Amino acid sequence: MAKYVYFFGAGKAEGKREMKELLGGKGANLAEMANLGLPVPPGFTATTEVCRKYYELGEEKLFKLVEPEIKKNLARLEKLTGKTFGRGPKPLLVSVRSGAAVSMPGMMDTVLNLGITSETIDALIELAGNERFVWDAYRRFMQMFGDVVMRVPREEFEHALDGVKKKYNRQLDTQLTTDELKKVVESYRRIYRKHTGEEFPDDAMAQLRRSMGAVFGSWNNPRAVTYRQLHDIRGLLGTAVNVQTMVFGNMGEKCGTGVAFTRDPSTGQNKYFYGEYLMNAQGEDVVAGIRTPQQISRQGSREWARNNGISEKERRANYPSLEELMPKCFKELDRIRARLEKHYREMQDVEFTIEDGKLHMLQTRAGKRTAAAAVKIASDMVKEKLISTEDAVARVEPGTLDQLLHPVFEPKAEAAAKQLARGLPASPGAATGQVVFSAEEAERWAEMGRTVILVRIETSPEDIGGMAVAKGILTARGGMTSHAAVVARGMGTCCVAGAGDVVIDYKSKTMHVNGVHVKEGDWISLNGSTGVLYEGKIDTIEPRLTGAFATIMQWADKYRRLGVRANADTPHDAATAVRFGAEGIGLCRTEHMFFEGDRIISFRRLILVADTVKRLRLDLAQADGEEKKKIEKQLAAPLKQYNRALRELLPLQRKDFIGIFKALKGRPCTIRLLDPPLHEFLPHDEAGQRGMAKTMGLDAKRVKELVESLHEFNPMLGHRGCRLGITYPEVSAMQVRAIVEAALKVKGSKPEIMIPLAGHVKELALQKQVALDTIEAVKKEQKLKKLPFPVCIGTMIEVPRAAITADEIAEEADFFSFGTNDLTQMGCGFSRDDAGKFLGDYVREGIYDYDPFQVLDRGGVGKLMEMACRLGRSTSPKLKLGICGEHGGEPKSVEFCHQVGLDYVSCSPYRVPIARLAAAHAVLAEKRSKRKKSK
Ligand code: ADP
Ligand code: MG
Ligand code: MG
Repeated sequence: MAKYVYFFGAGKAEGKREMKELLGGKGANLAEMANLGLPVPPGFTATTEVCRKYYELGEEKLFKLVEPEIKKNLARLEKLTGKTFGRGPKPLLVSVRSGAAVSMPGMMDTVLNLGITSETIDALIELAGNERFVWDAYRRFMQMFGDVVMRVPREEFEHALDGVKKKYNRQLDTQLTTDELKKVVESYRRIYRKHTGEEFPDDAMAQLRRSMGAVFGSWNNPRAVTYRQLHDIRGLLGTAVNVQTMVFGNMGEKCGTGVAFTRDPSTGQNKYFYGEYLMNAQGEDVVAGIRTPQQISRQGSREWARNNGISEKERRANYPSLEELMPKCFKELDRIRARLEKHYREMQDVEFTIEDGKLHMLQTRAGKRTAAAAVKIASDMVKEKLISTEDAVARVEPGTLDQLLHPVFEPKAEAAAKQLARGLPASPGAATGQVVFSAEEAERWAEMGRTVILVRIETSPEDIGGMAVAKGILTARGGMTSHAAVVARGMGTCCVAGAGDVVIDYKSKTMHVNGVHVKEGDWISLNGSTGVLYEGKIDTIEPRLTGAFATIMQWADKYRRLGVRANADTPHDAATAVRFGAEGIGLCRTEHMFFEGDRIISFRRLILVADTVKRLRLDLAQADGEEKKKIEKQLAAPLKQYNRALRELLPLQRKDFIGIFKALKGRPCTIRLLDPPLHEFLPHDEAGQRGMAKTMGLDAKRVKELVESLHEFNPMLGHRGCRLGITYPEVSAMQVRAIVEAALKVKGSKPEIMIPLAGHVKELALQKQVALDTIEAVKKEQKLKKLPFPVCIGTMIEVPRAAITADEIAEEADFFSFGTNDLTQMGCGFSRDDAGKFLGDYVREGIYDYDPFQVLDRGGVGKLMEMACRLGRSTSPKLKLGICGEHGGEPKSVEFCHQVGLDYVSCSPYRVPIARLAAAHAVLAEKRSKRKKSK
């Protein structure tokens, strides 16, 4: 018979850490901690398999199946604790906690203090010797049960609580007396009845059954679904449910609750024990950010006070550390921290509660961290001999490096900016944007293309959509482990939390900060690394690859097989790419070079006559006698203009290439010949056309006609790529000449000429001949027997026909570079410009797992690539293979490129470190799966 429930407690457990899939992360780690002999309140875990069954059978049938096991475990729990569930004299209270295999902070729901009923309440009061505490626990339970299980709007409970507070003139919940709390319970009862049409359940077993059902049900609530989508969490059965004996951090002054990290989750530092706690508080109070939490260690507390402008005297009086207040508990917690790190060989995030001076561990898990902390912790743990370099590389998620590659504030500009307030440095980075005060506004504004900073008193899981689109997040309340801080760090979004001087008024959409009035739409800046809030915009500068980051990258390079190049069009971008470790340029687009300064004028002159020249030349070839002379005369002026434009463009292009070759210092550079359709170089609005007409001494009508004549119904499939070179070979020749002449001027240059959009081998052959002829001409002019560099000529594979006939194409190509943007467009038949309208639906419906323009579609486009690689290498075993589409910097696509045996990927300069790490991960994943197979 299947086992659905696993017990833990009293120094041993039926589960263990390896059973995450089945017990969820929380359950597996509670079991593990119990096995380690740590002080874990006993309890049991209903497995993720039960969750799956919940969706298969429905709640009623499910409980028929598993209730016997639940009751058996409850009995065991009663025996161990000496308490009884739902009865006196010592009633057992439990928490019901969700926990899937992957942690989803704040996404699933927890019910505390379960088991209070009219039957148990008096016994509880007697037992605790504290009537007020029991009524407070009861109203908390009602609120959580109402919210989580029955979906009673949380605001109504809060409203009722506020009402009682106001009536009796209480500022804090903790000031409410027993009688006042009884009033709160009364109004909670009314609210519950109003919303559910029934009485609040007064039977402990019914409370438990319904709470467990609700946790299983919450697996598919919209918040949880959004979170999984955002974080690409797939393939899980569901959530497990943990039922655990309650311990109370809110039973008086020798009680408290907190969360701690074994290392600083923001920087990765390991200088002092890093964590926060609240005295006389229960679970969620720390995370919810309702009161300002205190620091665990004395040193941390001092640093915190300094950052918040609090004097040492005030700190010791009002915000002492746990180390100072309860030194024995602190020491035990500190020992546990060392023990857990050594055991897990990983930074841990723990939750603990102190009841009457006794420490209880409620959770441990691998701590969420910023990318900066991830690289620091990984490299430190190698130095401490806790993990291998391979582990270190595997532990840093390539995608998160993005955070380290974002700009930071320009120091002078930051120093000059007006500081408005200070909060906690909750998630590093720099953000400048316009203020909005709600998640919905953030989403609306972001959709309009604005950069926004989301400002909230505190955030809750409902805000997740707005948080995801915001450049930065600012909260007035909450600590380093508040919802805002944890979620922002996970997303890599800059966040300043708990800036207490920020007074927000949602109604008028304004905030007051130390005398400054800021309204919706005003610009502010946040430094998430220091916690400072500034007025206005601040300039940013480029990040650098140094320290632990550089170390991890060096280790990654040891493992990867794939080369990593960058897509760069300018010497500046090329230099950035080299700084980030690019081994060359995989795609240098030349079209941007036609736009700069006066060049566009020269190029427009060429476009203006190109068609005429082409036509007359064709006529000329067929004419003779008088006719021929006439055509020659007609051709003279346009041809002159055509050639003059080419002559003007040549030195400019040459200069660009010289700059790029210099920046590359001998690294290879794949240069793509002109690709976009010609109309992209012409002005489309009337003012622009008038301007162009004026510069060229033409009639504006003429320009308009020209633009119209170049109009295409489907330009992406129109006259572009090598098709332009076929029609106007002189343009290709000019570009090849500029490339070769530039390479001759910069020693060590390694140019590679890339012909775009070939679909037929003959297109490539024709363009290649143009290139070879040009090279011959240059050699002759410069009296060279041989060029000092090999001339590589290759093509992009971006038309499906090219992939299918890759064996033929390879006869003419030294290399292939997969242009996966166009290959996806043509392979899937999705217009790049129009697919945005429906691809969202396609992903939601699960037709495609991801947007195929972002993550390579392995099943279709990937097959085309596989085929092209195989066919290409069958003709030309040494054929070099690369990718230069947007996918070249996307970790999952990089893994695929490794698997099909490409030689390199090429991506934007800022993604180069991501691609390097992803390439290493691909090798490590391959190793792992081989090891698994051989077992
Ligand atoms: P989450 O996954 O959102 O962190 P948890 O299940 O960890 O939810 O519960 C939320 C809070 O409730 C935690 O901070 C924990 O400290 C507290 N809590 C949970 N179970 C117990 C318990 N048995 N006794 C005391 N506090 C508890
Ligand atoms: Mg929670
Ligand atoms: Mg927790």
